[in-house]
Amino acid sequence: MSLDLKVKIGLEVHCQLTSLKSKLFCGCSSNYRGKPPNTCVCPVCLGLPGAMPVVNRKAVEMALLIALALNCKIAKTTFFARKNYFYPDLPKNFQISQYDLEGGEPLASNGYVTFTVNKTRKTVRIRRIHLEEDPGKLVHPGGIGVSPYTLVDYNRSGIALVEIVTEPDFESPVEARSFLQKLRSILEHLGVFDGSLEGAMRCDANVSVEGGGRIEIKNISSFKDVERALSYEIIRQKDLIKKGVKFGMETRHWDETKRVTVTLRTKEEEQDYRYFVEPDLCPIVIGDELIEKLKKEMPELPDARKERFIREYGLPEYNAEVLVGERALADFFEECVKIYGKPKPIANWLMGDFLQCLHSLDVSVSQCKVKPEHLADMLMLIDKGDISIKIAKKVLWEMMKTGKTASVVVEEKGWRRITDEKFLLEVIGKVFQENSKAVKDALVDGKAIHYLVGKVMEITKGMADPELTNKLIREKLAELKND
Ligand code: ZN
Ligand code: MN
Repeated sequence: MSLDLKVKIGLEVHCQLTSLKSKLFCGCSSNYRGKPPNTCVCPVCLGLPGAMPVVNRKAVEMALLIALALNCKIAKTTFFARKNYFYPDLPKNFQISQYDLEGGEPLASNGYVTFTVNKTRKTVRIRRIHLEEDPGKLVHPGGIGVSPYTLVDYNRSGIALVEIVTEPDFESPVEARSFLQKLRSILEHLGVFDGSLEGAMRCDANVSVEGGGRIEIKNISSFKDVERALSYEIIRQKDLIKKGVKFGMETRHWDETKRVTVTLRTKEEEQDYRYFVEPDLCPIVIGDELIEKLKKEMPELPDARKERFIREYGLPEYNAEVLVGERALADFFEECVKIYGKPKPIANWLMGDFLQCLHSLDVSVSQCKVKPEHLADMLMLIDKGDISIKIAKKVLWEMMKTGKTASVVVEEKGWRRITDEKFLLEVIGKVFQENSKAVKDALVDGKAIHYLVGKVMEITKGMADPELTNKLIREKLAELKND
């Protein structure tokens, strides 16, 4: 049997609306990260009896903004539904969500997203977008396998989530990853979401290989892991199919540490959730005026920004694509252009050493100690001839680690290029004295001068201005010839 079996992947992405000040159905702060457990809670998000939810208007507007940006058809009326299941992180025993069957309509449906993967454009259809609440968080001190008990923190309970469901249009793990990257950038440009926050975007993926059942992988937390989990699952399924093993629908869990998927449960049917209309919330009527207002407020999105970067700054398409791939990076670039003025070197530094440093220090652009003015300062030092490109790379690294400005780093480390002629002549004099044979060679053969330049560099620890050193040595040799 050929292993060239067709692969179909669909994604369900849960994105927290991290820009909201309060939760989806109560006034509790949505800024729960780093707070002591169970301190951002109230009767509503704790699911206490009799507590009544009220929809956060801003959350609906943000979800609609997302729906418009993803080219969706927006419902005229939408309502919330109870999705019933028991789990300790869900104190009401149901999640307030939205349901699109039996006459219900999700907030938005039938959209699409276009993105680039391996230099080709790919379009993936969006099946639906809806709003729902985040459950609390289970904590297993010491690790899930080790802890004798489990704690629960309801600070996250009731945080507004937008669930985005795609059609199974992805044909490879790398496509899924590129889509998520694009989605993140769109949400960040809309100003509703900060993807650098831990757990702000979580993903379930379903994957089926021609001839096998549909497998769902739950709660994958990073883009890298989405790609890894899918690759693993595709190989596993192809292997089963090759061996002629039959398998049906199943839900599996991605083990980040062991990098394998494991069985969680055989897939529950939708009727198991006993969906019904949430009786404590009114249907939401979405008027045309609201949609018109949101369309007017729509900020510049990544595709438009990319085109503008190419047009306005003369960047190659690939560079524009990478910069716009992350809003914070694109913002950093434009801030730096305002100060320093030359877009191309800024883009090159950002895409090269800057991103490399971030990756090795494992920090995001917004957490990074180097700010646009710091990078601009460093580029100006290069232009003035105070530092070479080689030294600048070392300077950038120091700036990343210490948060000091380029000028301070250069002063403290003694990395300024030596252009003091008097000092260089002294060093050259010494080099000529100690290397009389090389001097004789250089008088005959022009190429031998490199050795002498090298000696000057050695003594000055590479800080001597190479052009000036070259010129001074040539002058000195010419003097010797004339004598
Ligand atoms: Zn609350
Ligand atoms: Mn969901």
